[in-house]
Amino acid sequence: MKLAGLAIGLLLSSLVCAQPRLAREIYRELVEINTVTNSGDTARAADAMAARLKAAGITEVQVFKPAPKKGNLVARLRGTGKKKPMMVMAHIDVVDAKREDWSLDPSAPTEKDGYFYGRGTGDDKFMATAFVANLIRYKRENFRPSRDIILVLETDEEIGDANQLGIRWLIEHQRALIDAEFALNEGADVGTRNGRPLRNGIQTAEKVYVDYRLEVTNRGGHSSLPRKDNAIYRLAAGLERLGRFEFPVKLNETTRLWFERSAAMESPQVAADMRALAAGTADAAAIARLSADPSYNARMRTTCVATMLQGGHAPNALPQLARANVNCRVLPGESIVELEITLAQIMADYEIKITRAYEPTTSQPSPLKPEIIQPIEKLTAQFWPGIPVIPSMSSGATDGSFLRNAGIAVYGHSGLASDIDDVRAHGRDERVGVKAFDDGIEYLYQLVKALAQ
Ligand SMILES: [Zn+2]
Repeated sequence: MKLAGLAIGLLLSSLVCAQPRLAREIYRELVEINTVTNSGDTARAADAMAARLKAAGITEVQVFKPAPKKGNLVARLRGTGKKKPMMVMAHIDVVDAKREDWSLDPSAPTEKDGYFYGRGTGDDKFMATAFVANLIRYKRENFRPSRDIILVLETDEEIGDANQLGIRWLIEHQRALIDAEFALNEGADVGTRNGRPLRNGIQTAEKVYVDYRLEVTNRGGHSSLPRKDNAIYRLAAGLERLGRFEFPVKLNETTRLWFERSAAMESPQVAADMRALAAGTADAAAIARLSADPSYNARMRTTCVATMLQGGHAPNALPQLARANVNCRVLPGESIVELEITLAQIMADYEIKITRAYEPTTSQPSPLKPEIIQPIEKLTAQFWPGIPVIPSMSSGATDGSFLRNAGIAVYGHSGLASDIDDVRAHGRDERVGVKAFDDGIEYLYQLVKALAQ
């Protein structure tokens, strides 16, 4: 009996250990495959994940290759069909990393001092790993959800899907296959400071990206005979006005809650300002103090900033052309046309021609429904007791914006703990804590199960 008990104990512990081991194997394989946008091969990564899913007995797996070395995977774990499917998604492409910029080889996943190092470990191969490993685990357990769980691994997120080969290709060509009530995506993590968990983020909205080209043309001439109408001066004066302009403060459901709940983690003055802002009682001084912090400012309003400048053609000629790029990040739900009217008013000069240089993908914030928030709050209390769940709006954009635009609610939520003062995504020595990895995989396992039940 004693021996049998021991044997059962060993068997159980080997079952418990099998999951982290599988996840780590998948993680290693994914990080090892080069999926850098220009030089890499996301089709290979998609094929590798498809092989693992099929080997585990998941039959509905497809890899789409809309261009050489570009792959998207769609897999489905069948449910009873009682509820509309849900999607779990992660992009498998990564930003380039140069060996000489890193202290370790970015393309060789390395475990060191309690971290996994390598390009993509955090952005976004952790989530891809979690969803593949967990789908295999559900299959092994014969888990029969109330809704289908659709896994999407897509390419080209890091270049905003500029060539329409990733999530936009799927939306256009395989809409029925990926149709879901909502999706879980990257976008917000468990924030820690000095190893202490502070908050669990859930991203429900993204600002809208749009670029404008501002141009002034002029007949030019010899620079020994200057005139007052100068293309560079006119453009510079408009940009100067833009630099001084502040868009109005406007909160939505997500950012209001973000300021309200983030206040508890801040110094007394900042906390008071945040609470006043969330309550709609902030005075000009409080708004000015908060606006001085770029990360608060970006949450409070639409922003437009000059990012590129060119002009003139010779040192001894009057400029015939002066041109600038202005990059705007627009609050979701705001009108792009109104923004353009505002820009023209700021320039206050008909000589400054404003042209839209990037077609925006507008997207509405995803609703904070109790069926989504409640399981997240319950699991957060188990995994990281005492920390708040905080909805957030990203100032950047992910593939979530294309899905929201297509009518699918998206929640950016990884369950991955990382230091808020040490952001390494896209940068050098990108890494994920070993414990954060194990906890995150298990957290997503339980969360997706709860959402699909
Ligand atoms: Zn990413």
